[in-house]
Amino acid sequence: MEKLLISACLAGDKVRYNGQSLPISGQLDALLRANFELVKCCPEVASGMPIPRASAEIVGGSAQLVLQAHARVEDNQGHNVTDDFVRGANMALQLCLSNNIRYALLAQGSPSCGSELVYDGTFSGVKKPGRGVTAELLIKHGITVFSPDSIQEYLNQQPHTSRD
Ligand code: SF4
Repeated sequence: MEKLLISACLAGDKVRYNGQSLPISGQLDALLRANFELVKCCPEVASGMPIPRASAEIVGGSAQLVLQAHARVEDNQGHNVTDDFVRGANMALQLCLSNNIRYALLAQGSPSCGSELVYDGTFSGVKKPGRGVTAELLIKHGITVFSPDSIQEYLNQQPHTSRD
């Protein structure tokens, strides 16, 4: 069965900055399990960041610029946590490469996992179009990254059989 990398918080693990999870619906969970073998990953925890931890946002540019060391990730205390985020992204990528994972379902809005929206770097609760650092790195290496909304649309268009 095809493997799917899934943000651990979407799979119910309490790994978010605030110590909470962000679980997908039972309906989507059942649909995913019928189609994929799920491989959980939290890039931030994998990189060694604690639970809970200060919230963080990409500051000074895009995730692509973060990976090029031209922008940074800061937490809400002003600490530069770029190295942690880049390390976590690389760990997620290695997990994909070593498991031949071609698809990922990542949580929306996160400075690691966001694939369509991220917070705008002002810590004012405003989102803007953009990607998190992990999503950016996976996409750069040819992995198809879905959000919970986009994978629901994708699966609704597919026959409900296991992918091989
Ligand atoms: S880094 Fe990704 S998997 Fe980890 S808590 Fe944030 S959104 Fe969830």
